[in-house]
Amino acid sequence: MTDFAPMPDTNGFFGQYGGQLVPPELKQVMHEIDLAYEEIRNTEKFQNELMKLFQDYVGRPSPIYHAQRLSEQLGGAQIYLKREDLNHTGAHKINHCLGEALLAKFMGKKKVIAETGAGQHGVALATACALVGIPCEIHMGQVDIEKEHPNVTKMKILGCKLVPVTRGTATLKDAVDSAFEEYLKDPQNTIYAIGSVVGPHPFPKMVRDFQSIIGREARQQFQDKYQCLPHYITACVGGGSNAMGLFTAFLNDDGVNIVGVEPAGKGLDTDMHSATLTLGTPGELHGFKCYVLQDSEGQPLPVHSIASGLDYPGVGPQHCYLKDIERVNYESVTDEECLEAFMTLSRVEGIIPALESAHAVAWAMKKAKTLPPEQHILVNLSGRGDKDADYVAEKLNL
Ligand SMILES: *Cc1c(COP(=O)(O)O)cnc(C)c1O
Repeated sequence: MTDFAPMPDTNGFFGQYGGQLVPPELKQVMHEIDLAYEEIRNTEKFQNELMKLFQDYVGRPSPIYHAQRLSEQLGGAQIYLKREDLNHTGAHKINHCLGEALLAKFMGKKKVIAETGAGQHGVALATACALVGIPCEIHMGQVDIEKEHPNVTKMKILGCKLVPVTRGTATLKDAVDSAFEEYLKDPQNTIYAIGSVVGPHPFPKMVRDFQSIIGREARQQFQDKYQCLPHYITACVGGGSNAMGLFTAFLNDDGVNIVGVEPAGKGLDTDMHSATLTLGTPGELHGFKCYVLQDSEGQPLPVHSIASGLDYPGVGPQHCYLKDIERVNYESVTDEECLEAFMTLSRVEGIIPALESAHAVAWAMKKAKTLPPEQHILVNLSGRGDKDADYVAEKLNL
């Protein structure tokens, strides 16, 4: 059996994926970040500080909720939700942002730079930077700025500098490019706080470690409450951080089926999706090797999802590895199925999910119908849907 604990290797590889494909001057900086992280990750002081913030600031542990009415209505397996939507700032991203902000403080960095898609990483990072007291600069695609107005306002209130990005498709990938260029101007005094389990080593490892609290809690909570482990666990996959956060604690549990859910957008047979693991091919993007939705010249293709946080043409290297060794199955859900799950969860359980998270809910709803009532599906509800409410209401003429 594969032992997942020591991943990645010292060069940041998960099998053939990951690594550190950056210019030589950045290699040294990334090495320093890795050293600093390895220095603090096992110190009691850092762990205590992070755990205290998780508890008193984020509101952890987030509960596991049995969606009984939804399960009954579907007539199959029981669906449970890991309520990351109840976290301070409304999603799982605060988990790694606090870790990154504490690391920035430890390293004496003067500024934190990042990109944001749906604005969730921006808000979470601006929050963590306000708390730790470090200036923060967020790059965001103009299309996303218009779509995610409440998050934009929050970032301004929290005191970060917001940089609109109009190049390309003016969405997540372009924001990454723009933020990375800014970072390259002064990598010694700044730190690029990556918003998912992507980018050069050590970020996929670090972000995964900070997020892995989700799965550690969930595994314990599930055992305490139901004296067993779930038969299926599932999460949506954009870059893949909430999914790795849930999956990590369960990777060595053979009996637990693990499913990552990608955005099929307007359909896998169109060019309007973002199903990287399903339809991509191995390549390079933003400093690491992973599956990429790319053209014949290796240029990333334009991608689409109804959920801004999922439209990225690459994906975390550990997911690529887990797909290849078949430890995790990756499936996909369309915009339409996502919207249906969004409305169903809202109306049957009174929980408005983020459009990102609604992808995982949609998969669980489809799967539950095919399983007997004694089986358990645990869904990572990565965030709440306040940010999407106006958009959905307009789309559905509510
Ligand atoms: C950003 C975001 C995602 C996608 O990011 P991952 O790194 O794939 O987790 C999913 N859900 C919510 C609520 C988000 O804000």
